[in-house]
Amino acid sequence: MIQFNEVGVVYPNGFRALKGISLEIPKGQFVVVVGLSGAGKSTLIRTINNLVVPSSGEVLINGRSITKAKGRELRAMRTPIGMIFQTFNLVKRSTVLRNVLSGRLGQANPALSLLGIFSEADIALAHDCLRRVGIPDKAFVRADALSGGQQQRVGIARALAQDPEIMLADEPVASLDPPTSHAVMSDLKRISREDGITTLVNLHFIDMARDYADRIIGMRGGEVVFDGTPAEATNRV
Ligand code: ADP
Ligand code: ADP
Repeated sequence: MIQFNEVGVVYPNGFRALKGISLEIPKGQFVVVVGLSGAGKSTLIRTINNLVVPSSGEVLINGRSITKAKGRELRAMRTPIGMIFQTFNLVKRSTVLRNVLSGRLGQANPALSLLGIFSEADIALAHDCLRRVGIPDKAFVRADALSGGQQQRVGIARALAQDPEIMLADEPVASLDPPTSHAVMSDLKRISREDGITTLVNLHFIDMARDYADRIIGMRGGEVVFDGTPAEATNRV
């Protein structure tokens, strides 16, 4: 479970991006956060892995504050949190396999991983993750040889390789065409269901949120202006 307790974010330039957000997100829920650009969606989800550090309040994961965690404890709390990005954030010249395993770098054997040598078990895991996102045959292809939709599937496989309890997806389909967007959202939803992964997805468009969300959180000006089911969201957001 993720708990936001009065989470406020003020950026160094004085801009108040989040204004005291309190929310509880139960394990396994598939949440879509909607709102216009600048509403605070990205800031909100980045407080969950402490990529953005709240100026006030805190985020608890399974009852422990990630906001206050430091050093080794923070790294340990981040490990089961996968992140998926709008522009995929792949190492373009690397193979798909290396990209999928990059989130695991240093976890098992830091010395070997630095050299990019992965264990048989890691490689088997990467193949399994690629199979689950529907691109089992792309392991040895360079990341930049793939289509946008395929690259985002690599992004999802990389998150999956962390064996995540939580997935954070920041505008994961904003760079994709509508059919590919739906395919990627279906994949995220299916994987969240299969593994019971608590998932937060930021989207610009409410239409797609209605199709996939268990719960829709609407944001405007750093505040939550709607929180409910897709049915309740009809004509409201
Ligand atoms: P998005 O489309 O996801 O909202 P933005 O284009 O707003 O992304 O921001 C891209 C990056 O620039 C982010 O890392 C964000 O934190 C940073 N950023 C956005 N606005 C500002 C700003 N006013 N000052 C400094 N950095 C900013
Ligand atoms: P969204 O994801 O909904 O587009 P963001 O969380 O990226 O919104 O940004 C919320 C607001 O905070 C925007 O007005 C953005 O310009 C501002 N912002 C984001 N990052 C920074 C930053 N590093 N410094 C200053 N302002 C920022």
